[in-house]
Amino acid sequence: MVSPQLAAEASWLEIDARALRHNIGVFREVLGKGARLGAVLKGNAYGHGFAQVLPTVHEWCNSIYLIDPREALAVRTYERVKSAPERQVLVLGAVDPEEAVALARAGVDLVLTDPGQERLLPALRSAGARKLRVHLHLDTGLGREGFTARDFPAGVAWIAAGRDVLDVVGVLSHFANTEDVTEQNYANQQLDAFDRGVDRVRDALELDAPLEQHIAASAAAMLLPKARLDVVRAGIALYGLWPSSETRLSARAVLGSVPELRPALSWRCRSQLIKWLPAGSYVGYGCTWRCPAETRIAVLPVGYYDGYPRLLSSKAHVLVGGQRCPVLGRVMMNHLVIDVTHAAKGDAPVTATLLGRDGDEQLTADQLALWSDTINYEIVTRLGAHLRRTLA
Ligand SMILES: *Cc1c(COP(=O)(O)O)cnc(C)c1O
Repeated sequence: MVSPQLAAEASWLEIDARALRHNIGVFREVLGKGARLGAVLKGNAYGHGFAQVLPTVHEWCNSIYLIDPREALAVRTYERVKSAPERQVLVLGAVDPEEAVALARAGVDLVLTDPGQERLLPALRSAGARKLRVHLHLDTGLGREGFTARDFPAGVAWIAAGRDVLDVVGVLSHFANTEDVTEQNYANQQLDAFDRGVDRVRDALELDAPLEQHIAASAAAMLLPKARLDVVRAGIALYGLWPSSETRLSARAVLGSVPELRPALSWRCRSQLIKWLPAGSYVGYGCTWRCPAETRIAVLPVGYYDGYPRLLSSKAHVLVGGQRCPVLGRVMMNHLVIDVTHAAKGDAPVTATLLGRDGDEQLTADQLALWSDTINYEIVTRLGAHLRRTLA
């Protein structure tokens, strides 16, 4: 990996901590006083950078959700170094026995999702660490991880037998269809199944202590007040992006107005070179673009390796000096060619904005997603981990 200094000529991401803070405030307002707000930092904090996002989220949110157990341990290290209070940290992803022991020692919560995890118990027993705090994931209709009603009794028998090393503290589920619709029938069915599931967990494990219940991600936290339960797990909206346009539309109906979310990420790039191409010249692989007139191009040192979708070839534009500059021809692995005939002044390098605001113009992850037939989640999470991320 190149050092950040040496990569100064490549593209970089600017993370706006104030925008993150603002979006946290939006959730606080929507959820009301006393509600617990959890932040999902999986996928390198949705591409924004785990290290860049953690300080703000740690200060202002109640819980942190991750896929990778190593990142959970990194949160504990951060807390030690900063003398910050310990937040609830919860690992949603798969772990091996050694990792489970490390999580127990660090006081990190783990989600249990299937009978295969019985293999964690011997390691926990021989480590003799404190009990591992666990949440049971119930599959209420997503068809992904979690115990279905059908495999529940056999599925939890081993958990009951593992209570010497497991401390069952929560129950959760995840919605399948809150983003793609403007009615929430399926979500309501899942909520009913969840309520029944929580009762079954209590009965099966003979639990009296309260269980932390959580099911809502960004969309349900906004649109389904009764799904907010004990804590919500907010991801995409914390970063200032709507889960979908349907969610945004529904928010007006449910909340009375559309909360203003602020995108926290900008992607910028210095041009590598600028030059004129005569009329009739081709640009890029496949000769898919031919200049209709003499054209001033800028070559940008950024491409699909960095997370700029190849499907944006000849479709997208970037911003230079607040003006739209079309992407000419194919997006390449490490290069992008744009038309700066009107945007550049002379041959001096320009700074292009691939995502974010420049003057009066803004390029959103939603727009890039639309052009490349995907969702904003994929646009931001696929931004290369190697890219320099700076706090703006
Ligand atoms: C990704 C994820 C979330 C967050 O979803 P958003 O739509 O980004 O808010 C919440 N819970 C689970 C289990 C997830 O996998």
